[in-house]
Parts: sequence; C-alpha cells; structure tokens
Amino acid sequence: EPSQDFIFRSKLPDISIPNHLPLTDYVFQKFSGDGDGDSTTTCLIDGVTGRIFTYADVQINLRRIAAGIHRLGIRHGDTVMLLLPNSPEFALSFLAVAYLGAVSTTANPYYTQSEISKQAKASAAKMIITKRCYVDKLTNLKNDGVLIVCVNDDDDHGVSLADGCVSFKELTQADETELPKPEISPEDTVAMPYSSGTTGLPKGVMITHKGLVTSIAQKVDGENPNVNFTADDVILCFLPMFHIYALDALMLSAMRVGAAILIVPRFELNLVMELIQRYKVTVVPVAPPVVLAFVKSPETEKYDLSSVRMMLSGAATLKKELEDAVRLKFPNAIFGQGYGMTESGTVAKSLAFAKNPFKTKSGACGTVIRNAEMKVVDTITGVSLPRNKSGEICIRGDQVMKGYLNDPEATARTIDKDGWLHTGDIGFVDDDDEIFIVDRLKELIKFKGYQVAPAELEALLISHPSIEDAAVVAMKDEVADEVPVAFVVRSEGSQLTEDGVKSYVSKQVVHYKRIKMVFFIEAIPKAASGKILRKELRAKLETEYPK
Ligand code: AMP
Repeated sequence: EPSQDFIFRSKLPDISIPNHLPLTDYVFQKFSGDGDGDSTTTCLIDGVTGRIFTYADVQINLRRIAAGIHRLGIRHGDTVMLLLPNSPEFALSFLAVAYLGAVSTTANPYYTQSEISKQAKASAAKMIITKRCYVDKLTNLKNDGVLIVCVNDDDDHGVSLADGCVSFKELTQADETELPKPEISPEDTVAMPYSSGTTGLPKGVMITHKGLVTSIAQKVDGENPNVNFTADDVILCFLPMFHIYALDALMLSAMRVGAAILIVPRFELNLVMELIQRYKVTVVPVAPPVVLAFVKSPETEKYDLSSVRMMLSGAATLKKELEDAVRLKFPNAIFGQGYGMTESGTVAKSLAFAKNPFKTKSGACGTVIRNAEMKVVDTITGVSLPRNKSGEICIRGDQVMKGYLNDPEATARTIDKDGWLHTGDIGFVDDDDEIFIVDRLKELIKFKGYQVAPAELEALLISHPSIEDAAVVAMKDEVADEVPVAFVVRSEGSQLTEDGVKSYVSKQVVHYKRIKMVFFIEAIPKAASGKILRKELRAKLETEYPK
C-alpha cells in the first residue's frame, strides 16, 4: 500500500547530515579543529547597545555559563526556562543549556504570571533565566524552590538584584575548565517550546539534538541553489527567539554558516530601517504583519535599504497582494517564504535562485526541504493525493519532534504509526512542486503569527462563575490576520456583560490572546462526542455577525 502513496520530495538530492553530533558541536563545527571559520568574526551584535560578540566570545561565554549553571545544580536532562527578550543573553543561555545536555523551555517574557507558572510547572523547570523587569512575576515559583537567574541592565543601577536571585554576570565569570564535557545522546531533548499543535492546550514540544541539527542542515548545509545564508551575511533578528522560527531558522542556522546576527528585542519599523542602513543588513526575516508595515510605510524612501538581498517570511499566511507589493518595494532583493510548524521543523522553503529573482510564484510557500518527505492526504479517507488536490499536509523526517512532554496520547494523535506528522494545515502541491497553504483544519488561531490556543481561553472562560459554557474561534482581521472571539453561554440569571468577559480574560493572558468580541448564545453547538462544532460557529460569524 505505501508504494501507492503520492510522496513529494525535494528536487535537491539528500545529503549526509552529521546528526549524531551534539547541537553545539555541530553549530560551531566550522570553528573547531580543522574547520575554516575565523573565530574573530562577528557572531552577535546587540542592536540596542551595539555590543559585539565574536565567534570566539560566544564559544567561551557559553562554556562559562554552562559551568555556572552546572555549579548551581543544573544537570543533563534538567529543564531551564528562558524568559528573555531577544538579546545576546538569550542566545548564550540557550547554547549553554544545550552544551550541558539540559533542556531549554522558551516562553514569551510578556506572559502573565499565571501563563509563566503553568509552563514552568508543566515543564518542571528548575531554573528560570530572566531579566530584572520580569522577576516580580516569578515570586511564587521562587518560593517553590525554582532558581532565578537575573540579567541586570545598565539602567537597573541602584535597583538591587531581586532578593534571592543569582546574577547572570556571575555565571559568565565561572571557570569553564571545571566542567567536564557532558555526554549527550542525539535523542536527548534540547529545546522545548510550547505549542498547542492541532488541538487542546499548549504542550511541551520535545525537539532533540538530532532533530534540530537535521533541521538546520536541511536549510544551510550542502550544495544548494537556494539562496542560503553565507558567512558574509548580516541577518536581522527581531522575530521572537522564543519561537522556533527565529531560534532554528535564524539564530542557529546563521551560526552554522558563520554569519553575523543583529539582535533586536522587538519590531519597530523606523529603528529596524535605521539598523539595516547602519549595519548593511543583507537578510531580513519577517512575518506577514511586518511585510504590511514595510509596504504601508512612506518612510522606506528615507533609508538606504539597498544592502538587503533577501527577505524571508514565515509563521502565517502571506497574502499574494502583499507579497507582490513588498517585492516592488525591494526590487533588488529576493523574496521567499518558509512554511513549518514548531512540531515539524521547517517543512518547505522557497526556491529563490540568485540569478533569477522572483522565480517562485507569489503566494506559494516553497518546495519540500531536502532529507524529508511530504504527502497531502484526504481529510476523510486518509488516502494520499496527487498534485493539485488539496488535503492535509503530512511530513516525515529526522527533523520532526520526538513528541509532546508527558502526553503520549497527543503525540500519537499527531504522529501516526508510520512516522507521518499531521500538520492540521490544508494545502496542495502544484505542477512545479510548489506548495500552497489554503486553509487550516486545526483549532489554532494565529494573531500576527503568535499562537492562540482556543482550548486555553475556553478553560479560562469556563472558570468564570457566571459562565456556563464557552467556545473560542478565529475571526478574520485586516492587521492581525486572525483574532480570537468568544461564544459564551451565561449561567441562569447572570448579568455578565461583554466587557466583563473581556476584562476577566485580559488580566490573565498576554495581549494577543485577549478576546476581541463576545457573542452570547443559548448553547454551544457540539457533536455527540462533546466536541465543539467550530465550523458551525465560524459560519455563524460570517452570516449572523458580519463585520
Ligand atoms: P507554529 O507552531 O507557531 O510555528 O505554527 C505553525 C502554523 O503556522 C502552521 O501549522 C501553519 O498553520 C501556520 N504557518 C506557518 N508558516 C506558514 C506559511 N508560510 N503560510 C501559511 N501558514 C503558515
């Protein structure tokens, strides 16, 4: 039967990937032994302060920090939460934890206290590395014995290190010779971002050394007519490093080739344009809302952006019109899309040939990456489909996650017995091997590319004493692409208002998970199994509550 499957592969030949190596050995292979990397070149530039770390600086610092956290009791297999904005400290901490054979669980530093607590507890984090300004959200965890390491900014002068926290600076002064090189297996988890996947609450996604090495190699190793990163590139990184896209496809891939990474904590158009001009940035990875900002801004003319040779978009649907418009704004740059999912690694990437800019079709999100397999299956029969037929995209390869932490059922629902990961995305492959995403089967809502899990908001809503039942679905939005809206069944006699519902949720979640609209109804439509009929609710939105 499998021989009848329609399986799509890369046009590029498979390569041999050294995925037996621990992540940090692989990433810095160029700079070790007989590698040809020059350790005096720039690895990290702090876009805020202008600080520079060469490849030599990064490697010595990561080993010192590894020795420092080892001295504090972190061992192979332990989990450390990184609660940091984009910064050199984020990069160094991630690498140090990986070097030790420990696991980094990454979280948005803007999360509320309860969101952080949930993830820290679920992942059994023993240590949290954070900044002074977020320490107040960690009091309960600290009282439960979680070690807090704190990065102090220069402008924190006078503000003493919060009680009972360890200073990050101290870690960087540890003696790296004290630490014996830890034994790491390729199957050990190294990164554990949280994702709700196709259904339910956010879960810890176990990404192994082997998985991450494979994923990086698929993008930047070997002969590749894709416009890859090179050692001459200056790569801008304002996309959040706690998300796998920036961590894997930008930071680690850039390090593997020896490029410079310009780190910016958040996207501000004018600052970003000023930095592009100042540092002659060559690669600008973006998400669709950033593309919109570039396209809409009249100020792009004021800056010299001619150094940009490549723009890459991912994390959410990019409308064809928007892609066409940004290509006009950057006529000398190549524009490409990537498509992937936290659990799957990168699935596809645009083939953008250097000599033939814009060869790829606008609206396509690339072709299958090498050393991987993809198929498109009928959502009802599960049978694989030929070209030009839409179905659920499934992916197989060493880059796929090991599974969800402590959740074998959710893992089995996502990765089938033959190793195919079901993405929950609907798409097709055209006659030129290009992939188009046309719809999303799964519950996930994406606000500007950020994950919003309906199940998480539904659990919060139902915890309100005046709410009997609730369901959250996506509503289309011009700027954010999708926003969460709620259908709510009030308890009998309750006078709960729309504002009451919204503010109840707002206090407990990060800004992009806030409910934008509330519709009170009599009952939530459900299947006999108790499953919410989301399709019906989405249809209701369009017919009964048009914008
Ligand atoms: P995350 O795990 O947060 O990276 O979210 C992954 C999901 O984002 C995918 O399953 C898609 O639904 C969506 N996504 C990512 N990249 C693209 C893209 N290029 N076009 C359309 N949707 C995308």
